[in-house]
Amino acid sequence: MSSKKYRKKLLRAEEQRRLIVSKLLDADMMLRGSYALIYTKCGKDNCRCKDKVGHPHSRITWSEQGQGVTSKVPREYIDWIQEVTNNYRQFRSLRKNLVSLEAETKRLLDAYEKELIESTRSGKSFLEIDTQNRKGKPPLVPKKRNRKKTTPT
Ligand SMILES: [Zn+2]
Repeated sequence: MSSKKYRKKLLRAEEQRRLIVSKLLDADMMLRGSYALIYTKCGKDNCRCKDKVGHPHSRITWSEQGQGVTSKVPREYIDWIQEVTNNYRQFRSLRKNLVSLEAETKRLLDAYEKELIESTRSGKSFLEIDTQNRKGKPPLVPKKRNRKKTTPT
């Protein structure tokens, strides 16, 4: 690929990065954890839940210092808890995208650097190195050095 193409791709990646960062800053509240509506049976023989689906409970679970925590969500917080946990999931997902975009940027920069150096050297014989037929013999020397014909004295 030409360095121009790498430049284009790098600028596009930078644009994407800017977009991701601004999305990352969108939410002003977030919460780690997952919300669930579960149904439990109380076990009482005379309860209406006996042959039905059970009593609904809204709860949030998360882990704190490696331990699972579960808490009942008050009715008035159900919508809120769904929103803020969703914000967190979105945030994590965007950060993941950012990490892979940064890896891609690094890869593109490496390739761009290599390409640009190669094209800078190209056509200048004093900067070209003959890497073939070296058979592991140092040192590397420029390819077509204009050697002065030295006459032995
Ligand atoms: Zn019951």
